[in-house]
Amino acid sequence: MTPDELRKSYIDYMVAAGSVEIPSDGLVPENDSTTLFTGSGMQPMVPYLLGQKHPKGDDLSNVQRCVRTGDIDEVGDPTHLTFFEMIGRWQLNADPATYKRRQIELIFGWQTQVLGLDASRVYISVFAGDQALGIPQDDEAIAIWQDEFAKLGIDAKVEPEPAKYGMSRGGRIFLYDTSENWWSRAGVPENMPVGEVGGPDSEMFYDFDPSGPDTDHPAADDSRLVEIGNNVFMSVKKTDDGFVPLPAPNIDYGGGLERIFSAVQGNPDVYRTPFFASAITELEKLTGHGYEIDTSSFRIILDHARAVTFLIGDGVTPSNSDAGYVVRRLLRRAVRVGRGLDAPADLMARLARIYIDEAKSFQELYARADKIVEAITREEEQFQRTLVTGEKEIRAFVAKNDTLDGADAFRFYETYGFPKELTEEVLGEMGKTMQSPEKFDEAAKVHSDKSRSAAAGKFAGGLADHSETTTAYHTATHLLLAGLQRVLGDHVHQMGSNITAERLRYDVSHPQKVTREELDQVEAFINDAIARGATVSVTEMTKQEALDAGIEGSFWEKYPDVVTVYTIKAEDGEILSQELCGGPHVGDLSEVAEFGRVKITKEGSSSSGVRRIRAEFRAA
Ligand code: ATP
Ligand code: MG
Repeated sequence: MTPDELRKSYIDYMVAAGSVEIPSDGLVPENDSTTLFTGSGMQPMVPYLLGQKHPKGDDLSNVQRCVRTGDIDEVGDPTHLTFFEMIGRWQLNADPATYKRRQIELIFGWQTQVLGLDASRVYISVFAGDQALGIPQDDEAIAIWQDEFAKLGIDAKVEPEPAKYGMSRGGRIFLYDTSENWWSRAGVPENMPVGEVGGPDSEMFYDFDPSGPDTDHPAADDSRLVEIGNNVFMSVKKTDDGFVPLPAPNIDYGGGLERIFSAVQGNPDVYRTPFFASAITELEKLTGHGYEIDTSSFRIILDHARAVTFLIGDGVTPSNSDAGYVVRRLLRRAVRVGRGLDAPADLMARLARIYIDEAKSFQELYARADKIVEAITREEEQFQRTLVTGEKEIRAFVAKNDTLDGADAFRFYETYGFPKELTEEVLGEMGKTMQSPEKFDEAAKVHSDKSRSAAAGKFAGGLADHSETTTAYHTATHLLLAGLQRVLGDHVHQMGSNITAERLRYDVSHPQKVTREELDQVEAFINDAIARGATVSVTEMTKQEALDAGIEGSFWEKYPDVVTVYTIKAEDGEILSQELCGGPHVGDLSEVAEFGRVKITKEGSSSSGVRRIRAEFRAA
């Protein structure tokens, strides 16, 4: 079986059962600024699970590509990847009488009947119930699983005390509390806000080592049992009076494609599936080292190269912030581990080529093959230069000073682009640890303020004239920035501004498109402030005081030691905006109101990681 065949097998099975195939979303979520990457098949489905109608109907299945950077420290073990594929099925507005049985029959049917998975090696977890919360044990799921196993001649016993006896008493179905078998966006039921929906789940595990320790159980760490899928029964809503059943619950199922392949093969090592076979062969050829000996290094390289390939394929460019930084970090970590195996300088580009060739079914990726490999090559070449110089300098520095702190590490980063994590690794190799690592972030903040000012230097001032309209636009830009920070987050800063009497143009740091919905919220914030008749005041303070107070500023380098701070304050005392600036500004927002309402007319990319926003006054 090939990965393509496995994907097709799943989709064909679900489609034959009446489910509709939907495409995978990209790895960069489009309308969700809360996470950098798509980490599950469920993530893009949230609006539909919360009640929005899906255009393709109520029974949907897909294979979603995912990235979980939270699992990066797990990479090196046999089962965790940062990039992986998740098969999924969602049944929306389902019939509460039949939806659990339908899902369990389908997924178990596919795995045992089509894939030929050995059912006697499948173990199940089910929700034990919570009396205090008034949520019962999921006896329905237990009964369904018992029926399903009985069809295959297996008597599935319930083990209610998993941690105590593990698998030793022959249990197949294990009961856990809300910490293991409960799903909601907010986590355990106690954390769910009123109005939120959630429910119990039932996970499936594969036993890769029947002769292994029988103290193991599904939720144990490093267990012989590996999770191959999770069925969530989204079925209750939290109200002021506790949990009430949803009249039409949902199924949310997700299972790891690579792990399911592992289960079919009976080997827990996901890297031993065909997803990685050619890449392993290539890596062994290129380094002269073997997967079985340098297993952990191999896994890091294999995983990270694959993640980088797919992330760049989905439009992320290596950079020093947000998603771009994750890609850069993954690539650099793999390159460095590769050097330990004497890998050639173009290791990542070569592996990328292999992954792309093997993933012909990802047509978008395949179409962009040359661009992806080019981007990786560029990044790799740059980093190779960095590494050689940086590592030499760090070792010399430590040899001389015996130690190295966070501020030093930042200097190596600034000068050589040598990342903090790698400095820590080099130190580790020398038997040392970094002193005051928090100094790295402090130094980084001062630096980013400075470099912003350099980048934006050509815009400094940014005002075409000092007319009344231009001045009003100028004050509006302060509200615009404050609004963007409220809606998008504190990572937003001014990268440039250009104001005339006709319009304002304003550049800000932000990794992705600002949606119209977000722009509307920003607009509302600005126009509310204007309508509230806030005042603008000017104060002076030292640059250090301003820095310490965390006041927004973009041209620190250019400012004198004593700076002017413009504060926009509403009548009720709320500070709407506070920013270093040379003025001029209006004294009262009623002077802005005279020109009408602020309308954001355009939003687009200015350069990598920078968005350009235009706005105009429109008659109120
Ligand atoms: P685990 O406890 O093994 O990390 P999880 O509880 O984080 O898994 P879910 O969030 O329920 O997993 O994701 C659904 C499925 O996706 C899992 O059952 C598993 O098969 C797969 N999966 C999750 N994380 C990874 C990963 N890092 N690499 C490969 N597959 C994964
Ligand atoms: Mg996990």
